[in-house]
Amino acid sequence: MTTGTGMPAAGVRVRIAPSPTGYMHVGTARTALFNWLFARQQGGAFVLRVEDTDRTRLVPDAIDDLMAGLRWLGIAPDEGPGIGGDAGPYLQSERLAIYRPYAERLVAEGHAYRCFCSADRLRGVREARQSAGQKIGYDRHCRDLPPEAGARRAAAGEPHVVRLKMPLAGAATLHDVLRGAIVFDVAEIEDVVLVKTDGFPTYHFAVVVDDHLMGITHVLRADEWIPSAPIQLQLYACFGWDEPVWAHLPLVLNPDGGGKMSKRKTVGPDGRPLEQMTLVREYRAAGYLPEAMFNFLARLGWSYSGAEEVFSRAQAIERFRVEDVKPSPAAWNPEKLDWLNGVYIRGLEPDDLAARLAPFFERAGLAADLARLRAVVPLIQPRIETLADAPGLVDFLWADAVAPALEELVPKGLDAASTAGLLAAAEATLGALAAWDHAAIDAALRALAAERGLKAGVAFQPIRLAIAGRSVAPPLFETLEVLGRDATLARLAAARARLAAQP
Ligand code: GLU
Repeated sequence: MTTGTGMPAAGVRVRIAPSPTGYMHVGTARTALFNWLFARQQGGAFVLRVEDTDRTRLVPDAIDDLMAGLRWLGIAPDEGPGIGGDAGPYLQSERLAIYRPYAERLVAEGHAYRCFCSADRLRGVREARQSAGQKIGYDRHCRDLPPEAGARRAAAGEPHVVRLKMPLAGAATLHDVLRGAIVFDVAEIEDVVLVKTDGFPTYHFAVVVDDHLMGITHVLRADEWIPSAPIQLQLYACFGWDEPVWAHLPLVLNPDGGGKMSKRKTVGPDGRPLEQMTLVREYRAAGYLPEAMFNFLARLGWSYSGAEEVFSRAQAIERFRVEDVKPSPAAWNPEKLDWLNGVYIRGLEPDDLAARLAPFFERAGLAADLARLRAVVPLIQPRIETLADAPGLVDFLWADAVAPALEELVPKGLDAASTAGLLAAAEATLGALAAWDHAAIDAALRALAAERGLKAGVAFQPIRLAIAGRSVAPPLFETLEVLGRDATLARLAAARARLAAQP
């Protein structure tokens, strides 16, 4: 087996390298999923490395949220913080001592230099250069400082950063599996900072050292990192290390195709304002199944086949090839996700669905044991798109009583008295039924409607209203079966009493 990129299958190692600066975005989940699929397909390892060197932007529970999201999707890493592995530590903040000698080596070999420019000077230079239309904000003031002088000032405790000495002319070529050769003019690239004043490495420096030391063979990451590539290529060249195989994945766009998927107001299919969800935890809380989300994310830029939208994890693993990922951006399609979620909900074993519904009922304040939930599953399973839809569909079953609007209770063509008579007849018929199941209820109520010369739709309306308190509810006979005979008769009687009290 080969990777399709000329590399042997053995030893494939991929990674995600998120910064813990917020909760897990669906775009991160998609990147993770493709890395995981590739690792599983190749029998390789999927590594999580946390890039937490920007200490000012840390969100304390971001890593927990990420791990929870990965586990929920069933794509937990093989190595990472709290998981273990031979290439740790997997938190960059625990690797500071590892980076130091590599920075020293770059300085010693003339690939990098110490820069002592103050923040004030840098700001002034940047503004002046920007207004002069220059692309590079730093004027390379310290680039030609003799290294011994730099070392002396550093030893004396003078604050400084370490910068990469980018070549002043020439081209850098990124060979991307999905996009072919991308050529950069290096003259347009800044002498970026590799080590900050506080001794922390920057992203560019740490990412290269870590990908190398962790044996990462393939970097599959979002295409917003393409502009970083020439800097990283330069670092590989300075160190004399082999580059990984690069594949920059298409961005996940907002549903209308406008820009990277972001939190913002949109309008729902029903015309109501909607907040676009961007976080994995939000989709989870909204009642999407991890199986559906997995399937949906896998299709953002990749397809299992031209025709099949629904496929299992095993099928995806079998067919996934990095080179089949389409480089063009993929728009998030909420209707497709809802549809897929419905498909997966309908495919669940009823017991499994009952268990997954439990937290949603609890959150809705509907106390329910599994047996009770299992009983309502047949009412719910055919007609929800998300688990969160379920409580609102059957909440009337939990109520002590319901209070339908009187004008709705009386169907067109009947008056209060005849409706009350119909409800009384239904009570008598249902009270006398030998077996309480939906087939028997169905037959009895249809016979009753016929007997009274009413269309089924007309006769069932007040019964549905009396039972559910509203006209939109799951199918009537199944609902009555689940509600039970005593509660059914009590609700019919209550509605009848309200009609009787009408003038
Ligand atoms: N720390 C970067 C991020 O937050 C990693 C980018 C990369 O994969 O190189 O996504």
